[in-house]
Amino acid sequence: MQDKIWLSPPHLSGNELQFIEDAFQKNWVTSIGSNIDEFELSLKNFLKNNTEVCTLNSATSAIHLALIMLGVSKGDEVLTSTFSFIASANPIVYCGADPVFIDSEPDTWNMCPDVLEEAIKDRLSKGKKPKAIILVHLYGMPAKMDEILSIASKYEIPLIEDAAESLGSQYKGKPCGIFGQFGILSFNGNKIITTSGGGALVCHSLEDKNKAIFLSTQARDAASHYQHSHIGYNYRMSNIVAGIGRGQMEVLDDRIEARRKMHDFYVDLFENIDGVDVFSEPNTDFFSNHWLSAVTIDEKKTGRTYEDLRLAFLESNIESRPLWKPMHMQPVFSNAPYYGKKIAEDLFKMGLCLPSGSNLSDEDKKRIAKVINSFFQNKK
Ligand SMILES: *Cc1c(COP(=O)(O)O)cnc(C)c1O
Repeated sequence: MQDKIWLSPPHLSGNELQFIEDAFQKNWVTSIGSNIDEFELSLKNFLKNNTEVCTLNSATSAIHLALIMLGVSKGDEVLTSTFSFIASANPIVYCGADPVFIDSEPDTWNMCPDVLEEAIKDRLSKGKKPKAIILVHLYGMPAKMDEILSIASKYEIPLIEDAAESLGSQYKGKPCGIFGQFGILSFNGNKIITTSGGGALVCHSLEDKNKAIFLSTQARDAASHYQHSHIGYNYRMSNIVAGIGRGQMEVLDDRIEARRKMHDFYVDLFENIDGVDVFSEPNTDFFSNHWLSAVTIDEKKTGRTYEDLRLAFLESNIESRPLWKPMHMQPVFSNAPYYGKKIAEDLFKMGLCLPSGSNLSDEDKKRIAKVINSFFQNKK
């Protein structure tokens, strides 16, 4: 059996160990230290736009803290993209609040501005003003920010950007993660850069950053003894893990370029295959990091489904993965309100994420091309 080709494996720079070693040598084996300071600073310098970054143990924690800092609590409603990984919705439930799911639009696969406004109007007519919006930039593709921001400000609902998949993506030249009151980043093992596991809350004031640090380190009041006036969490990133992040930030630009090249590789590969579309930016306002390359397969035109292709890849020991199953279709959220026209449902029925790692060799690409070419040739 040939080696496994993974969907999105970690890709280290080689310098990560040096930063970890530094932390060991200085004995900063804890949740403070220069790796955290430097990692946060490099993220801030990357994002610019008056950001302050608080690194945490996951993006899930970051979403939870963002909701808490926006005052979301029991019985509140939070609007969020149905087409996403479950981590963008779960923290709503941690707050005792209720998710309301919003469908995608076909250009970016992200939250549809029209459906968002329709949902807000309907919730308002029922006497419930949504407390926040969690907007996801799926697979690195920026959402339609102008439209979403204008609706959020028209109805005065704060926006949280789940940019877990879109570090390095841009909308009209500005980085994903800076548009909302809060932005969320993930450094999970499969993301464009990784710390093995980790995340960050992107804030727009030092006050918010300090509040996030306070809440993520058990909310200890300023006193020599242990005194607490708030409920806190143990969500801060460790200085060891942040060392990996420092090494990864040195190569973030390379990783973005490599993922975008993987997308181009698939565009070329599928160019002459009728009925298969490679998920691509609608126009130059959108710059995707192409964290994951994805295709949709028209079953009528090709006589094939995404599952057929997934199994063909599997036979050659290559990992691929169905698109996210929409949240309103998940058993755990079966009672949650949903607004839309089943765009995400249709995408889910025809889409597949393809191996997208920044460290795929030419040999790996040949293996991938071979599976795809023979899969679609056999058919016709
Ligand atoms: C990965 C991911 C998360 C969660 O990230 P963790 O760091 O693993 O908690 C949240 N939202 C989206 C869209 C993701 O892809």
